[in-house]
Amino acid sequence: MSQIDFQTFDLFHPTEEHELLRQTVRSFVQAEVEPQAMEFDRSERFNQDLFLKLGDLGLLGITVPEKFGGSAMDALAVAIVHEELSASDPGFCLAYLAHALLCANNIAQNASDEQCARFLPKLCSGEWIGAMGMSEADAGTDVLGMKTTAVLEGDDYVVSGRKMWITNGTLDEGDTPCDCMLFYASTGSDDKGRAVLSSFVVERGFEGFSVGQKITDKLGMRASNTAELCFDNCHIPLSHRLGEEGEALHHMMRNLEIERLGLAAMSLGIAKRSLQVMVEYANERKAFGERLNAFGQIQRYIADSFAEYQAARAYVYDTARRLSLESGGSRLDSDGVKLIAGPVGKRVADRAIQVLGGNGYVGQYVVERLWRDSKLLEIGGGTLEAHQKNITKDLTKHAGSVLS
Ligand SMILES: Cc1cc2nc3c(=O)[nH]c(=O)nc-3n(C[C@H](O)[C@H](O)[C@H](O)COP(=O)(O)OP(=O)(O)OC[C@H]3O[C@@H](n4cnc5c(N)ncnc54)[C@H](O)[C@@H]3O)c2cc1C
Repeated sequence: MSQIDFQTFDLFHPTEEHELLRQTVRSFVQAEVEPQAMEFDRSERFNQDLFLKLGDLGLLGITVPEKFGGSAMDALAVAIVHEELSASDPGFCLAYLAHALLCANNIAQNASDEQCARFLPKLCSGEWIGAMGMSEADAGTDVLGMKTTAVLEGDDYVVSGRKMWITNGTLDEGDTPCDCMLFYASTGSDDKGRAVLSSFVVERGFEGFSVGQKITDKLGMRASNTAELCFDNCHIPLSHRLGEEGEALHHMMRNLEIERLGLAAMSLGIAKRSLQVMVEYANERKAFGERLNAFGQIQRYIADSFAEYQAARAYVYDTARRLSLESGGSRLDSDGVKLIAGPVGKRVADRAIQVLGGNGYVGQYVVERLWRDSKLLEIGGGTLEAHQKNITKDLTKHAGSVLS
């Protein structure tokens, strides 16, 4: 890259396609997402009709190869879409993330061509809404502690167990499960007694697969449905296992990289919107005969928020630029961006509420919803403590090369 290119390089839109994507999603958000966001948060409902419109924009299979109906975009495009959607409606964006990244991208990266051809066109068009089942009531961070089992009997696996906290797990208020879910289950144990995990796809309608409960009364992300899903001697054809037995940990780790990047970008969207609200309000509202932005303490809220947002944004987009969906290898930075960016959304939304005083505490100015939604980004896709644990482990192993 020449000196001129180096100076004009736009980290946030390295190509015209990225620029166009941001404009397209931003227009869609203004016209379609923003007007419904408060209503679906308040009523704790998933807006399925709006979700399907993301298919018309080619976003439901954003990273899926074109031959399977997707748009074949990269990780930086993923960051753009998640940042823009979350600036308005993080709950809606979480439902999108579960479908596009946790399910569709995971299948695209880890399934055979024949399986991709079977599952992905439906996920890309919106005919199917997908989910991913890793967590269980007693096994979240400690993923190897999962209790769901899959035992091969003839040409079928017989699956028993329960998956907890599944975004898109149910599509309505009742018992309609997602159309398909990529899930992980134990297919045995190794010679050290540790679970051997394998990946499967279950479809709605398979006998023994059902919604246990829709989880309601969530702090935030209320515009996404969360559910417990049950397997009761559910027969899953061998053709629905992804890869070989024992490969799930590899699938999981590779997909967690793009999941964490998407979640980090969601936090950027929350921070950006909160900053916009805070700056505008502080410029209009007067106290003691002065605008709020004349007070040093308010300036500190604004300035700290801006600098933190910019720093997190640079790290997220630089990681996105380098993240390979196919080969992985960005574990350290995908943990890093979520560790740094996750709390930025919450902190900036919190400061925005503070700057708005009583007005920040009610729905009209949006930041109370963003603040509630932001907390999930410190928990889902890996807790802050899990990121600290992973980073320390990886740095201990590779400090020589990483910190050279
Ligand atoms: C709204 C929502 C949506 C979700 N969507 C999905 C989904 O679609 N699919 C899915 O599979 N899961 C989903 N999850 C689950 C989410 O990924 C888990 O909640 C998360 O991984 C944490 O697991 P846990 O809740 O079991 O907490 P735990 O793992 O029990 O952790 C509890 C606390 O202990 C800490 N802790 C645990 N182990 C250690 C350790 N070794 N060192 C230090 N501290 C530790 C944690 O950091 C945390 O602070 C969702 C959760 C929520 C709330």
